[in-house]
Amino acid sequence: MVVPGQNHRDPWFADFFKACLEDTKWLFQTEKGTPFLFPATGTAGWEASLCNTLSPGDKVVTFRYGQFSHLWVDMMQRLGLDVHVEEERWGDGADEAKLEAILRADVGKEIKAVCVVQNETTTGVTSDIAAVRRAMDAAGHPALLMVDGVSGIGALPFKFDDWGVDLAVTGSQKALSLPTGLACVAASPKALKAMESAKLNRVFLDFGDMIKTNASGSVPYTPALGLLHGFRESVRLLRSEGIENVWARHHRLGTGARLAVKAWGLKLLCENERWASDALTVIETPAGVDSGLVIKNAFAKYNLSLGLGLSQVQGKVFRIGHLGNMDEIMLLSALAGTEMALLDAGVKITPGSGVGAALAHFQKTKGIYPTREF
Ligand code: PLP
Repeated sequence: MVVPGQNHRDPWFADFFKACLEDTKWLFQTEKGTPFLFPATGTAGWEASLCNTLSPGDKVVTFRYGQFSHLWVDMMQRLGLDVHVEEERWGDGADEAKLEAILRADVGKEIKAVCVVQNETTTGVTSDIAAVRRAMDAAGHPALLMVDGVSGIGALPFKFDDWGVDLAVTGSQKALSLPTGLACVAASPKALKAMESAKLNRVFLDFGDMIKTNASGSVPYTPALGLLHGFRESVRLLRSEGIENVWARHHRLGTGARLAVKAWGLKLLCENERWASDALTVIETPAGVDSGLVIKNAFAKYNLSLGLGLSQVQGKVFRIGHLGNMDEIMLLSALAGTEMALLDAGVKITPGSGVGAALAHFQKTKGIYPTREF
């Protein structure tokens, strides 16, 4: 990523940028979708999806089950959309049966979009996007399906075309293990059709300006060149591992983390196993123990950065991230640090119990690196 200043109006850029767009399509697993790369964060990806396809007053349906789904709702409301919010317990995911009932009741087909956060980073919950699509199809509803995949895409299974997703978003700082600053978006042909009548204002995030310039490998404004170089390399690494292997690695890591929590005798915030996230694990501290103290101990004594409990679950949970450039040994060291930090905070766990449970799982399920057979 550290390259001398380059001019993106020089001839080399077109082929380079077209390759970035192809990488974006691969990341989302789409042939039909149109990719966009904005020099911005995931939040801009949310806004681009909404403002390019909807008009003020349009009805949208969404679920609130964590801080990020909450912030997306807030954005929808501030953009002037008519938002139907299904409130779920923080720790649950998108309830497909409820969604189907809402869509069936909308006989006039006034709902224009269903918006779902795939992986809720505050709670460690992964909603089932394929099942959301099935619910929409069962109701015979034509709404657009918008998915926040910020902390999922590139780590968890995501199939834009197969699941009939219309708009999906991710950011460079999660599964791609890059610095913050790229918002990656994909839009289906149906979403681009909706753009023709969408009246919400957009300027910087206008898909139209991107489409006009991207076709020839150009951009409407200065691209984040360093990040684009990093993006190409990050996707190269994921491609060489193979997307199914990337998903399997995250599943192995997630399962190991959950086995560790069980061995400690602690509870996951996500109670329903089908929604357990393979990208991060969110753990409740026992009553009377401030999770902030575990996080402080981990950071101050063991140089380990655990995630805070945000908003509703502040002080009650802490988070272990295991997405991106992460392997079994890295996670084991995080689990070991967590054990020490828990013990320091007065939580009665058996030292080594979580690490032991996770390593037994990793040893049983880990294959040999393809180039290192003996
Ligand atoms: N959605 C989810 C699920 C997230 O985890 C985040 C950030 O952590 C966002 C959206 C917002 O992305 P950004 O902070 O890149 O704007």
